[in-house]
Amino acid sequence: MTYNLSWLKDKVIAIDGPAGSGKSTTARLVAARLGYKYLDTGAMYRALTYFALRHGISPGDEGALTALAQKLSIGFETGESVNRVFLAGEDVTEEIRSPEVTAAVSEVSAHPGVREAMVSKQRKIGEKGSVVAEGRDTTTVVFPDANLKIYLQATAEQRAQRRLIDLARAGVATTIEDQIADLERRDRYDSTREHSPLTRASDAYVVDTSNCTVEDQVERVLTIFKTAMS
Ligand code: C5P
Repeated sequence: MTYNLSWLKDKVIAIDGPAGSGKSTTARLVAARLGYKYLDTGAMYRALTYFALRHGISPGDEGALTALAQKLSIGFETGESVNRVFLAGEDVTEEIRSPEVTAAVSEVSAHPGVREAMVSKQRKIGEKGSVVAEGRDTTTVVFPDANLKIYLQATAEQRAQRRLIDLARAGVATTIEDQIADLERRDRYDSTREHSPLTRASDAYVVDTSNCTVEDQVERVLTIFKTAMS
């Protein structure tokens, strides 16, 4: 379906939800349909974590990580079927999804100094609008005045199943049990941390993606957006 975009220009759409709820795919495709930028905030925390691990900086070292977050240059190349992530010009798209990065990213992203530096970069990317941002705190902290807020959710089994497929495509062998355990561990960490925990904004629309195809998810968000903006 194509859209007449003139009345939907320059808006900010923020999408939060737990790991594997379908945020990345939905946000990327919604952005492509609207001609908006796609901002993957999780990729920014992953890129920082990857760089830190590569340079022997501990996930617990808030001072070093904050300094790094302030100066690190993170770039994106996004489109309907691509979301490439660059760190100081180097393509790290695959590396930031490794199990080592996934295991350490929640600890790295819980530091207030790290969050402050990242939120400021994220707001800069979104300052002119026409952006779909997704993550854990885009509806609550990064863009509290977003024109549309969506909270995506799905059962742990469905989320783990999606991760399993993504990882298999990337050549990583794993099991559904390991993926459920990993998602639950990250959900717990991300929802109970002191700073900017994952939480559902009171003015967010809840979309359950458990039994949705990707196309359904995208259409539901676009329909909510058009209705909310009319
Ligand atoms: O979305 P993704 O699973 O790639 O995010 C990786 C991790 O980055 C999350 O588990 C969370 O710890 C952190 N994150 C965050 N705030 C965001 C986005 C991601 O703390 N806005």
